[in-house]
Amino acid sequence: MSKQISSIATANVINDINNYSSALKPSVEEKINAAISYLALGWAVIPVKCGTKQMHYKISKKQRGTNKTTKHTNSYAKCRATLDEIREWFEIDLDCNIGTLTGQCSRGLYVFDWDTKKIPKKCCKTLTAKSKTKKGYHDFYYCPKKIPSTNITINGKHYGEIRGDGVLVVLPPSVHETGWIYEWQDLFSPSEAGIAEIPRALLEMVRKRLKIKSSNPVKSKNTRSASSKYSLLADSPSGFISSSNLKEVDTNESNVKEMCKVLNIPPVELGQHFLCVLPHHQEKRPSASVYRADNKQFVYRDFHSAKHQCKPAMLLVEVYAAQAYGEVRQLNKPELAVWHLRLLVEAKLLQPVEISSYKLSENSRPLVKKLYEGFLLLLGCKWLYSPNSPTTFSHRFAAAWCGISECNVGEAMAELLKIKAIKKVGEVVGSFGKKMSLFLPN
Ligand SMILES: [Zn+2]
Repeated sequence: MSKQISSIATANVINDINNYSSALKPSVEEKINAAISYLALGWAVIPVKCGTKQMHYKISKKQRGTNKTTKHTNSYAKCRATLDEIREWFEIDLDCNIGTLTGQCSRGLYVFDWDTKKIPKKCCKTLTAKSKTKKGYHDFYYCPKKIPSTNITINGKHYGEIRGDGVLVVLPPSVHETGWIYEWQDLFSPSEAGIAEIPRALLEMVRKRLKIKSSNPVKSKNTRSASSKYSLLADSPSGFISSSNLKEVDTNESNVKEMCKVLNIPPVELGQHFLCVLPHHQEKRPSASVYRADNKQFVYRDFHSAKHQCKPAMLLVEVYAAQAYGEVRQLNKPELAVWHLRLLVEAKLLQPVEISSYKLSENSRPLVKKLYEGFLLLLGCKWLYSPNSPTTFSHRFAAAWCGISECNVGEAMAELLKIKAIKKVGEVVGSFGKKMSLFLPN
């Protein structure tokens, strides 16, 4: 009996080894399934000749019947490959690889092609699909506006390229000329991590003067002076933190220095100028500074604000929220208060309330995990001043707060509600009479 068990065990091990090696060299079925899943995402999938980064012209000539190479690629962009055509790719050439064209023909898909495994941390804040390449990674993003191909240069150092409109990108599980195999990073396939909309801040970080217009610029008529609006938590229930506590934090020089680190402000003396850290405020000559206002509070001074239709002085928390949203926005007092608490938490000046909560399964998708962690952190911050209260969690806010794309919030939230990690406990009427759900962890 025990012999039988051990022989079954041995057989399983051998099976595992076989599966493992077959995972290394993709079967035709795996390649077909992958191609279909990419088609389902709306990508312009094309056959790629093994060992190259080029269209498989023998195949395209047979299927689409023209000799001009540009027409071949355009053909698969205009009229997607059919299931029969995809099967035929591998009848014509067993070693055929798969790729997609980037840009508007693939729903606005753009790829950050990193030539290195050491991507600067600030460039990986947004969760999105990621594949491993021979030298580094491909990060997949959507962008509604056309982006040209360009180098990724940060602080003068070359990191790779953005694959702009109409470029061929090789997709997993294609085989590299060296025999190495493209694969999705663990837990970062499109179905697990989603494809995020490209954060504008990231685009600007890697390529200056990229001409993409902001969709809703902040109107200058909305501006108010920073000092007059600072009564953040005046109407909050009495909790651990009061509005005067919070206000005081911004008057303390060493606290402010810690907050400046979170805002990526270089370690200059307070009052000294540095390059503006607001999203899409690139400048060559440093014109921003942090200085003490009349009410003793330190504020962010933006001397080129007129050019960007922003107000000349902002609270540090407003700078922080602008960085999270990817643009300067007018926020209401309760929202400013939570961003302020978050800033203090990130600066390690404040400890969030620990929330005893439902534990997500190890296998949960990263997108769902990230939204859930963000939700718990939000409560951890809010409960510092209003313990045990439920919270609203709008898609717009949740996307900025959790660093995921707005189009992915709904789906991840639905899952958290479905598995009962989060429960809806009521509704409030928000601004403009809009009803908003209230949530608590389960
Ligand atoms: Zn600025």
